[in-house]
Amino acid sequence: MDELVYQRKQQESAEEYESRCRRCGACCGAYDGDPCINLEKAADNRYFCKVYNTRLGLQKTISGKSFTCVLIRENLKISPLSFSCCPYNVS
Ligand code: SF4
Ligand code: SF4
Repeated sequence: MDELVYQRKQQESAEEYESRCRRCGACCGAYDGDPCINLEKAADNRYFCKVYNTRLGLQKTISGKSFTCVLIRENLKISPLSFSCCPYNVS
């Protein structure tokens, strides 16, 4: 497989993985009373991260607590997510 084809397949695979997200906001604290300061609700009532491209690393919640934003698959390596509605739990 040539390099360009390989890169395109990698990109398609990453996009397919990301498209599984239902944007419920649960993993960003939408329902625990102290969400991430970067979590926003869109007009369609689904959530989005306003710093998505630079999200990884140190972040804060609305109340000022620090935490580290990591890729969802990094959390899954440790244990299943506690959000039963999340499609990544069954992948
Ligand atoms: S809990 Fe799952 S479906 Fe909900 S926003 Fe997080 S990754 Fe997406
Ligand atoms: S920075 Fe991380 S935890 Fe905060 S809204 Fe964005 S993806 Fe969610």
